[in-house]
Amino acid sequence: MAIAYIEALTYLNQRARVDRRDGLAVRQATVDRYAAGVSVSLEELTLMLREFAAEREWEPFHTPKNLAMAVSGEAGELAAELQWSTPEESNELDAAARERVADEMADVLHYLVRMADVLDIDLIAAAMDKLARNRERFPVGEPETRRARPRR
Ligand SMILES: [Mg+2]
Repeated sequence: MAIAYIEALTYLNQRARVDRRDGLAVRQATVDRYAAGVSVSLEELTLMLREFAAEREWEPFHTPKNLAMAVSGEAGELAAELQWSTPEESNELDAAARERVADEMADVLHYLVRMADVLDIDLIAAAMDKLARNRERFPVGEPETRRARPRR
């Protein structure tokens, strides 16, 4: 088990991109790693979602426009889960509500990651760049920043 796990890890680490022929092996290795308690990287998730779409011949439908609409639709489903909650209730979700929220968050993430893949956008780099800009925009300790609602 340990050797198979290390082999799977090595196999994944050696590959930046995977062609369709090898997709199944990578997917199984990723699933095995996840089952063993090792976190899955964004790149691995990207590859798995690419494979999922390819197997079902959904690529023609995965245009940036359609994927943006799908992100928006799933974000709406996420919001709907909390729509009538009080702020306090939304802070204390029961197990069933938490599961529904997690499910919709997964939908949002899947479409967002898929859209980044289709557009060849490095989602982590984009997020890091945006965070750096937000740090400049909202300096720590500034009276305008402290306890203020974010502005557009
Ligand atoms: Mg959904």
